[in-house]
Amino acid sequence: MTQVPTDIRALRDQGILAIAWSDLKADLPFVFLRGQCECAHCVNEWTGERILDPETVPADISIEKLELVGGYAVRIYWTDGHHSGLFTWERLRKLAQGTD
Ligand SMILES: [Zn+2]
Repeated sequence: MTQVPTDIRALRDQGILAIAWSDLKADLPFVFLRGQCECAHCVNEWTGERILDPETVPADISIEKLELVGGYAVRIYWTDGHHSGLFTWERLRKLAQGTD
């Protein structure tokens, strides 16, 4: 069963997305998260190969806004104009646990 976060907020002055579940808390750096985007622009849908080179993500990347999607994911509007990727709660939890 998917565990839904109890809190999620972009801490822009620290450059981290702070996520909390009832049993887990994580601070995910923006620059790391941006590099983990799995949308069709960042990952080849057919081969699973990463198109986006995480090295090219600006170190000062930030989040403009967060938009909840259908109660199962969040869409992140990045300051580089990218917003086609969704991060599901499941994926964020894996990233938070370092198991993805
Ligand atoms: Zn993407």
